[in-house]
Amino acid sequence: MIMTTIAAQLQHTQQRLQQASHAVGRPEGSVRLLAVSKTFGPDAVAEAVQAGQRAFGENYVQEGVDKIVALRQQLPGVVLEWHCIGPLQTNKTRPVAEHFDWVQSVDRLKVAQRLSDQRPAHLPPLQVCIQVNVDGGPTKSGVAPAELPELARAVAALPRLKLRGLMCIPEPAPSFEAACAVFKSAVGLLEALNAEGLALDTLSMGMSDDLEAAVASGSTLVRVGRAIFGGRPPKG
Ligand SMILES: *Cc1c(COP(=O)(O)O)cnc(C)c1O
Repeated sequence: MIMTTIAAQLQHTQQRLQQASHAVGRPEGSVRLLAVSKTFGPDAVAEAVQAGQRAFGENYVQEGVDKIVALRQQLPGVVLEWHCIGPLQTNKTRPVAEHFDWVQSVDRLKVAQRLSDQRPAHLPPLQVCIQVNVDGGPTKSGVAPAELPELARAVAALPRLKLRGLMCIPEPAPSFEAACAVFKSAVGLLEALNAEGLALDTLSMGMSDDLEAAVASGSTLVRVGRAIFGGRPPKG
C-alpha cells in the first residue's frame, strides 16, 4: 500500500507520542492525538481518517461545521469526534452546540451557559475543557488561574455539559525544562480541582513543536496540526 504524506506524518506523530510516553514510563495509549485540521479541506481529513485517525480539532466555527457535514456525506457510517478549540464568541455558540462533540476553549461562564442551553436533547452532553492562561501570555485567551476554581464549579454544574478538564496554549518556551515547568503548573491546577471534588480526566496540552514536553509533564491529549497536515498559509 502506498502511504500518503498525511498518513506518513500521522504515523510519525504517533511514534513521537509513543517515544515521549515511553521516555517517562507512561503506558502506551495514555495520550490521545487530536489532529488539528483547521485551514485544510475535507479531503485532507478523509485522508487522515483512512489512516486511522478519528478525532479532529477545528478553530473556526463555520469552517468546522462545513467540514463536519462534508465528512458525514463523504464517509457515511464512520464516526468521527470533533473538537472546537478556537476562541468562541457568544453569538457563535449555537452551531458549536449542535455539531461538535467537544469544546476545549471555554473561558467564561456566559459561553458555557449558552452551550448548555443550546445543546440538542438528542445528543450526549457536550464534553468541555476550560482554557486556562497558565503562563499569563498576553495574546492568548483563557481564564486566569486564580479565577479557575469558581468557573470550573459553575461549568461542572451545567446540565448539558460534561466538564472533562483543562486546555492550555502556553507561549513557546526557551527550553524543554521551561516548557515542562509551565505544563506542570497546569497539572497542578487540575489536581487542585480534583482535590476539591471534581473528577477531571483531561489535560489538553502540547502541539507540533512542544508535544514531547507536554507528554513528559502529564498531557492526556495533544493537539497537532502542522506535523500531520503540513504548513498552513499565514492568517490573512
Ligand atoms: C492551530 C492550533 C493547534 C495546532 O498547532 P500546530 O502548531 O499546527 O500543531 C493546537 N491548538 C490550538 C488551540 C490551535 O489553534
